[in-house]
Amino acid sequence: MNFCDFLKKVFRFLNMAQVEHRKIYLIFLFGPAASCAVPVVHMVCYAGILDGMLTGRLEYAVRQLLWLLGLTFVCGLTTKGCWHALEVVSESCRDTVWQRTADKAFRMDYEEYEKKETLDRIRRVRQSQRADIRRYFLHIYHVIEMGLYTLSALILLLFMFAGVDHDNRNFFTSWQGIPFLVLASAIMMIAGRRVGARSGKLTEQMMKKSEEAEGLRVYYTGFVHALESAMDIRIFHMQKLLWKKCTDTGRIEDELWEDGKKISLLQGLFHLISGIGTLCAYVLIVGKAWYGVISVGDVLLYIGAIDMFFTSLSRMLYTYSSMSGSLSYVLTFADFIGSGYMHYDGTLPIEKRDDGEYELELEHVSFSYPDTDREVLHDISLKFRVGEKLALVGQNGAGKTTLIKLLCRLYEPTQGRILLNGVDISLYDYAEYTSIFSVVFQDFGLLAFSIKDNVAAGEDGEEERVWEALEKVELAERVRRLPGQLDSRLFHENGDGISLSGGEAQKLAIARALYKNAPFVILDEPASALDPIAEAQVYENFDRLVNGKTAIYISHRMSSCQFCDRILVLDEGRIAQQGTHAELMAQDGVYARLYQAQARHYGY
Ligand code: ADP
Repeated sequence: MNFCDFLKKVFRFLNMAQVEHRKIYLIFLFGPAASCAVPVVHMVCYAGILDGMLTGRLEYAVRQLLWLLGLTFVCGLTTKGCWHALEVVSESCRDTVWQRTADKAFRMDYEEYEKKETLDRIRRVRQSQRADIRRYFLHIYHVIEMGLYTLSALILLLFMFAGVDHDNRNFFTSWQGIPFLVLASAIMMIAGRRVGARSGKLTEQMMKKSEEAEGLRVYYTGFVHALESAMDIRIFHMQKLLWKKCTDTGRIEDELWEDGKKISLLQGLFHLISGIGTLCAYVLIVGKAWYGVISVGDVLLYIGAIDMFFTSLSRMLYTYSSMSGSLSYVLTFADFIGSGYMHYDGTLPIEKRDDGEYELELEHVSFSYPDTDREVLHDISLKFRVGEKLALVGQNGAGKTTLIKLLCRLYEPTQGRILLNGVDISLYDYAEYTSIFSVVFQDFGLLAFSIKDNVAAGEDGEEERVWEALEKVELAERVRRLPGQLDSRLFHENGDGISLSGGEAQKLAIARALYKNAPFVILDEPASALDPIAEAQVYENFDRLVNGKTAIYISHRMSSCQFCDRILVLDEGRIAQQGTHAELMAQDGVYARLYQAQARHYGY
């Protein structure tokens, strides 16, 4: 990366931070300036004090001392204040970035979110947030600070060299010292750039490896400590497999350790080079003092300036080079936040209707999952009548869930359109559109929060309505018996919580769907974890549960759909049949065949 690219990236990084923290540029200006002023003030004032005392000008020496104390106090205070502000800003910036990336992840198209590259990116974003945002703030601060140190040391040196009376007795008394110093600085700059670039590359590689190791570690520790996997681990004796996998992760860490050693070696080499440069400069100054070209106070000043010049130059080059190697990596989150992943968000509002008269229609809809050739749904045309209870049945893999995902706009049809009240659904505002659906997905997720939070799902939980929803799914009694009732927390992740059986969890997920009070209720295999009695209750109470709304009930069990007004049979992505249970049984089709086959296995 060249210097211009580097600057652009640094400004991009800081501009992102500036959105939240307006004073960020002030911190980066005053902090380094005050910090660099301290050694300059020290060098100049100490030299003045020494020369004043050696030449008997006591008043001059005292004035220099007062300047020294006053400026040191002010600069020290400014440096500390800016440093503290930087720490606070970098911490809070890390939180902001976390929020903005999470917000982006929530809002991006599900289709895009599900892709492997996106998930990899999110992992990288999490990694860069965890460690590097703060580190990069400090690095940028450091580069500016060291740049100012180098510049002020150079100005001091130029003044000093220009102010000295030279003669050509020998090397030490002549001008030849200047090109000598310039040459030593050039060698240092080249060496610093090279060593820094190499170590930057190594750092970038290390970040990638540690991201991989971290991802695996999080997965393994999650699996080892998750309550759900504890039984499987015991029964299938998975410990050996898990230890082996963990040892493999350890191998990546060994590589990281090796890379770390190489970086330290490079740093050592670089310090050696800068040490040699400084030594040459010292020899020059001692030579000048020996031949009486400069005073004792000047020796102090020269040595300080030379020391400051070489040290700050080497540090600045090193930090700049190692940063420029990995800055693109760290800016992953900026790319992620800036990327436009919401490609079919419309603007139309949804007409608010108390009568729930929403009509959904699928017009010749076909669909293949992104990056696959296989068509999962073929030419589906379908209309939902308001208040209808529709069953979607078919064997596993027939495309039932995919159809629901299209309805909920998690994916876009590859061909055809879906219309809500005659308007293409992609034209509606996404948040408004999803508000008309209440869905219980097969792999629903509950949170380790209170029962009330789980049912109300982020809305202001009205306790009465929460109880009502729990009553409907026959879970209210169980919750009433809990000491914390609606405030009882689920699971054990955040301290004491309650354990739910699979069936209870499914009921709670249904209660959440009912609480939402949306005109369309979709239940995807809602009885899969319920016992036969609870399952029968769901069928019997279905009318009461969905309360006259348009409901779509998905199941692979033909017998569980008899209570629906219309049954739609999906077979390999096509609508094979539709009608009532009696009509479908009267035909010699997929439905009747599957019904008979399942009847033999389930014994009904
Ligand atoms: P059903 O709900 O009827 O069991 P699905 O709609 O879940 O069936 O799946 C239909 C087909 O789509 C299956 O063959 C499945 O493998 C495939 N499929 C489901 N999800 C994805 C996905 N995210 N990417 C690619 N193929 C998928």
